[in-house]
Amino acid sequence: MQGFIIEAEHKIPVYAETDVLVVGGGPAGFSAAVSAARAGAKVILMERYGYLGGMATGGYVLLLDCMDDGKGNLVVKGVVEELVERLKKVDGVIGPEKEIWGSTDINHILKWRQWAGTGGEDKIVRYSPVVDPEMMKCVCNDMAEEAGVRLLLHAWFSKAYMEDNEIKGAIFESKSGRMAVLAKVVIDCTGDGDVFASAGADFNEGHLPLGLVFRVGNVDTAKAEKHLENPENGKKISQDLKEIDGVSGGYSFGILPQGFFMRSSIHNVVWFNNTTKGSAINIDDLIKVEVETRKAMMRTIKYFRENVPGFEEAVVIDTAPQIGTRSSRMLDGEYVITRKELLEGANYEDAVVYAQPPYRNFDPSHSLKQVPYRCFLPKKIENLLVAGRCISGDFGAIEMLRVIPTAMLMGQACGVAAALAVESNVAPRNVDVNKVKDILRSQNVYIPN
Ligand SMILES: Cc1cc2nc3c(=O)[nH]c(=O)nc-3n(C[C@H](O)[C@H](O)[C@H](O)COP(=O)(O)OP(=O)(O)OC[C@H]3O[C@@H](n4cnc5c(N)ncnc54)[C@H](O)[C@@H]3O)c2cc1C
Repeated sequence: MQGFIIEAEHKIPVYAETDVLVVGGGPAGFSAAVSAARAGAKVILMERYGYLGGMATGGYVLLLDCMDDGKGNLVVKGVVEELVERLKKVDGVIGPEKEIWGSTDINHILKWRQWAGTGGEDKIVRYSPVVDPEMMKCVCNDMAEEAGVRLLLHAWFSKAYMEDNEIKGAIFESKSGRMAVLAKVVIDCTGDGDVFASAGADFNEGHLPLGLVFRVGNVDTAKAEKHLENPENGKKISQDLKEIDGVSGGYSFGILPQGFFMRSSIHNVVWFNNTTKGSAINIDDLIKVEVETRKAMMRTIKYFRENVPGFEEAVVIDTAPQIGTRSSRMLDGEYVITRKELLEGANYEDAVVYAQPPYRNFDPSHSLKQVPYRCFLPKKIENLLVAGRCISGDFGAIEMLRVIPTAMLMGQACGVAAALAVESNVAPRNVDVNKVKDILRSQNVYIPN
């Protein structure tokens, strides 16, 4: 086989010019675009699929993990809080009422762990709302439109447009052909760092398993949960699933019996999380996971129907349109945050994100996790910011920070910083971080004084 071909030089039409271009319309990108527009910038949001929400909508990762501090207070606010409040108005979300956030009452824990709302450890109830993906797509569109964000859907980013070490825009592929968007600041929210990799920034790779979430309906969830209350039943299912090479990925690392699926916001519809080794930036792995997980899903649903009370009439509703990616490229940026620092509760003068994502051995007395602004800045590329699960951190830090609410806070911080950079006519690395914090506070983000 011929090793490579050479592409002919050709002119690329400019589709649009803007202040801020956000690439990737997942949780981080949606939040970045809305907050940049609200901070006064002209914003384009480029997304390869036809809807916003990324893993939360297209990946059926329905759980917005841990928006509270573990002590009963809401800390993840801003765009995330607004999104959840708007979802409530369209019956698009379910979650524990405020009075029981942080509760250690076993009855509350037993109830909310069914939606995986106990931070994985079953010790306390966390505020982890579970969203309806279709409602979330609609609400995200509304919020983006109201903020004045211009949506560029069905546009697959393919190449950074560079002048020396400065990013000047992005080339994308679409049904209208190959075109470019020019921008003063670009924010990489692709999750996989497609933009910074193309721009020539330094990065590392860390691959948490891939997955393909599927939803199952017609489940008598109360009956199924009753069956699983007996740990012996759970052990048998676990053993059997190993033997048939089935799928298992419910809440599972707590002190209570294992769960195999999670309840959704829709009555008697559950979702099956799952894991398969592979890299999200390797096309052969992506193909393998798409094909093999569907086979495993078929084995699993047959097993559940025949063996798990409550699943007798169960049907597969759908597989996620988007393969589940937990991590891939991680920027090697101006500051590389580590899991050790997060666990120790390190403080940073330029911290722009405060959250309490889930991790093992969490204790409500632990201080909030902070993310410094420098983690969003590539070392040698100008006018580029990075938000979401591909920021600059070690593998353990990314594993902790990647959850949806934290990703959205990172997006909001970068959106505001990008708008401020444009307004002040400085590079993102030179923005006044105190001003970024002030604007974030004015956008209702929790940033202590
Ligand atoms: C199976 C699974 C289970 C998980 N469980 C939980 C959980 O229970 N709770 C929780 O909070 N988090 C969970 N996570 C983590 C969480 O879903 C992600 O870390 C989070 O969505 C990261 O947000 P993001 O915006 O950085 O990236 P993503 O959600 O991946 O969004 C990236 C966006 O960029 C777009 N994009 C990518 N490349 C391009 C391109 N070249 N051109 C244009 N657009 C592009 C994508 O289509 C997508 O919309 C889970 C993840 C997986 C995969």
